[in-house]
Amino acid sequence: MTPDTLKDLVRTVPDFPEPGIQFRDITTLVGNGPGLAATVNHLARMARDAGAEAIAGMEARGFIFGAAAAVELELPFIPVRKPGKLPVATIGVDYALEYGTDRLEIDPTSITDDQRVVIVDDLIATGGTAQAAVQLLRMAGGTVDDALFVIDLPDLGGARALHDAGVTVSALMQFE
Ligand code: IMP
Repeated sequence: MTPDTLKDLVRTVPDFPEPGIQFRDITTLVGNGPGLAATVNHLARMARDAGAEAIAGMEARGFIFGAAAAVELELPFIPVRKPGKLPVATIGVDYALEYGTDRLEIDPTSITDDQRVVIVDDLIATGGTAQAAVQLLRMAGGTVDDALFVIDLPDLGGARALHDAGVTVSALMQFE
């Protein structure tokens, strides 16, 4: 399945989570077996081309695509978690949301020095989440030069911001 065909499997939900937002929902994409397989296949190929030695995915939807791509390439998967979930000493990064802040955490022992880590998530909007993940994985000693997304919302500028942080961004599809 081509990325254009996969785009037709993404559902757009108006006014979620608040009025005026067009939410791009991957539930319908992962609910289609061949669509899910093709999406993971594309991401795995892109990760392999980027020289991935490990895949990191952000909780929760990044786990779906990131872990599946890691399995396809037989690479380690690094879960980038919401706060308070890991049972060991963590390192974390706080980042700004439109209203308030959020935090991502990892187990720093899940990365080896200079390991080439490729980030995978479902969607990049402002890029705040991905920038925090890049910062965190670099703090742990990883080399983070590439981030892969199923969906890019280019109008929100996230890909540009990541590029400025020295990260090459690739996405299977864009929604204006
Ligand atoms: P950012 O930090 O602004 O780039 O937002 C990206 C994060 O918010 C990702 O982890 C997405 O899962 C989530 N997100 C933001 N907008 C949407 C959307 O329209 N659909 C699905 N997830 C979204």
